[in-house]
Amino acid sequence: MLNEKRNNKTVYSFKCPSCQDGIIDIIKSIYDLPDGDKMLILKFECNICNFHKNDIIPLTTNMEPGIMTLHILDENDLKSKIYRSPTGKLEIPELELIVEPGPRADFYYTNIQGILFRFENAVSIYRNNLEEDDPEIREIDELMFNLKQAIEGKYKFTLNITDLQGGSYIIPQDKSKYSFKKIENSKEMELE
Ligand SMILES: [Zn+2]
Repeated sequence: MLNEKRNNKTVYSFKCPSCQDGIIDIIKSIYDLPDGDKMLILKFECNICNFHKNDIIPLTTNMEPGIMTLHILDENDLKSKIYRSPTGKLEIPELELIVEPGPRADFYYTNIQGILFRFENAVSIYRNNLEEDDPEIREIDELMFNLKQAIEGKYKFTLNITDLQGGSYIIPQDKSKYSFKKIENSKEMELE
């Protein structure tokens, strides 16, 4: 996935909490984004079992304001990483799902599948609060069906992040499915 990284460095090792036998190396690497920004990626990997975890931390936030669009067509695209800053608005237009800008920590950094799981959870809570004869239930059940298909990579959709101040990122698995559209005069838009 990340072939532009550098400074790969093992910074710390500890015993695997999952299998108790393996050693987990924390590998720190800096990833250079196409616009010159940098991300710190911390990778935890057990050398015996398949316990692993990645964390992404943006080191710079001078990215230009704009709209990031990723087309999710298959299971591989679901592994694309996302960092939504508190000023970023996240949207899946096909499913009419939106996370408005604001400090929603659970939507900060994860991968596409992680985003879908969070939406599924929120929609299921919403559905449980509806009366059984509520006409909205049919619509919600259809949404839940589509979300489950999407989580398995069987539903094609688009994910947009609109960030007027910059700072949000999508790191695509497949760069050909990603595009970025700069927003001109975003400073003026904010003042209005
Ligand atoms: Zn292990």
